[in-house]
Amino acid sequence: FTLPAVKNEEMRDYAPGSVDRRKLQEALAEMREQLLKEGPFKVPVIVNGEHITTDSVNTQALPFEHRTTLASFHETDASTLRKAIDLALKVKPEWEAMPFNDRAAIFLKAADLLANKYRYKLMAATMLGQGKNAWQAEIDAAAELCDFWRFNCHFAAQIYADQPVKNSATTWNRMEYRPLEGFVVAYSPFNFTAIGGNLVSAPALMGNVVLWKPSPMAMYSNYLVYEILREAGLPDGVIQFVPGNAEFIAKEAFSHPEFAGLHFTGSTAVFKHLWKQISNNIDVYKSYPRIVGETGGKNMHFLHKSADVRSAALQTIRGAFEYNGQKCSATSRVYVPDNLWDEFRNILVDETKALKMGPVDDFTNFVTSVINEHSFNKITSYLNDIKSGSDPKTKILVGGNSSSTEGYYIEPTVIVTENPHAVTMKQELFGPVVTVYVYPADKFEETLELAETTTPYALTAALFAQDREAIVTGSNALRHAAGNFYINDKSTGAVVGQQPFGGGRASGTNDKAGSGLNLLRWVSPRVIKETF
Ligand code: GLU
Repeated sequence: FTLPAVKNEEMRDYAPGSVDRRKLQEALAEMREQLLKEGPFKVPVIVNGEHITTDSVNTQALPFEHRTTLASFHETDASTLRKAIDLALKVKPEWEAMPFNDRAAIFLKAADLLANKYRYKLMAATMLGQGKNAWQAEIDAAAELCDFWRFNCHFAAQIYADQPVKNSATTWNRMEYRPLEGFVVAYSPFNFTAIGGNLVSAPALMGNVVLWKPSPMAMYSNYLVYEILREAGLPDGVIQFVPGNAEFIAKEAFSHPEFAGLHFTGSTAVFKHLWKQISNNIDVYKSYPRIVGETGGKNMHFLHKSADVRSAALQTIRGAFEYNGQKCSATSRVYVPDNLWDEFRNILVDETKALKMGPVDDFTNFVTSVINEHSFNKITSYLNDIKSGSDPKTKILVGGNSSSTEGYYIEPTVIVTENPHAVTMKQELFGPVVTVYVYPADKFEETLELAETTTPYALTAALFAQDREAIVTGSNALRHAAGNFYINDKSTGAVVGQQPFGGGRASGTNDKAGSGLNLLRWVSPRVIKETF
């Protein structure tokens, strides 16, 4: 296969006075103006390219300005969903028969359209709809999505070219990478526009047809992603855009005999719930479905007494508070040895207080609001519990205030605890809150063991140490605590093609988004032996 050489999309810096900053600000202003003039953007259900409106309409608001509605979208009804499945299955033979180079060309073109034509628009939709600041939107809706599309093509080409079989004197053996028989369902999250783009594209690139249920909180950006794929040449019906109630879609799609796989990113609870529904229907299916999911995390930074304390503290601020702590990989528990605590605490307090919070339109704001009222209420109830003294060993060090008058704002908050099993050391809050446990510096190994087993999650972890022996000991002790393990760097920010992403235990099936391992889940190989 002769694909273009693959490399990561170059990140733009949006520096004051730069062309990129001006263009992004124009895109934001234009989107806001259109909202004022014409009202919320209308998002339909899309089946075989046909835009369908249903009776059930829902809305997506700006999280940091919740009186403003960004989009109103139609929710799929039962007959539309059945039609989407039937028509997808009808186009499948043609799609899977299309030569790989032609399928790949669509996703490569989508990446170029995004990089050069729709970058600012998709970033603006991600900023307004999901509350990302400009740099977080660049990481996600520009760089990461381009990378997913390009690297998936690159890895798929490697898979198709690979023949892991030997021949004998009289036989010719070969491996055919067929797509799954049936259709795949993708449930995508609010927190990364790129993840939605990847959840549908990875199976589609391998020749599958996909139903896409986007998150209601990312509806407008996800719709734009879909439109980019269409403009790039995605044929009718290969991906059906079916917004709607998660439970309802599960009920319909998972009771179909041709259901072949679930590609999911979201909460642990929802993933388990969907898995149970799938298992209840196991006798209905023609094939055992592939279930691939990336779910929650309770990601740690673990400092050894030899750590570069300033660097570790600054990485902690970024890991915990960038995108308001709403990355699955966000740093949410920190283990600090007592010899470093004073210095670590001072940096953490000063730098956290210095973070500016506010709407995305003002580029000096680092933190915005959390995504919705549900999330706001959940996080503030944890904070209120601590304020009311529910655990005498746990206190708020900095932050802790909140207001939902304009948007769902929660101050970046650092909690300190003497209790390694404190509630906020264990449970995922999905907000700008990090809990620090200070441990005796000479109890490194015992504390590692504790950290490894404190939560059911295992998504990301970071170890900070200068001492080589401590790096080796720490890496071994935390072997199962993360699918992405960082040494002297923060727990967030995996780059497609560099650190394939995913975790184990309650954090997911660890099928590494943006890698060949993930793509292999969407094929059912046939081995062919021909005897001469
Ligand atoms: N890949 C992202 C990171 O490393 C996180 C993805 C997620 O939130 O699901 O920061």
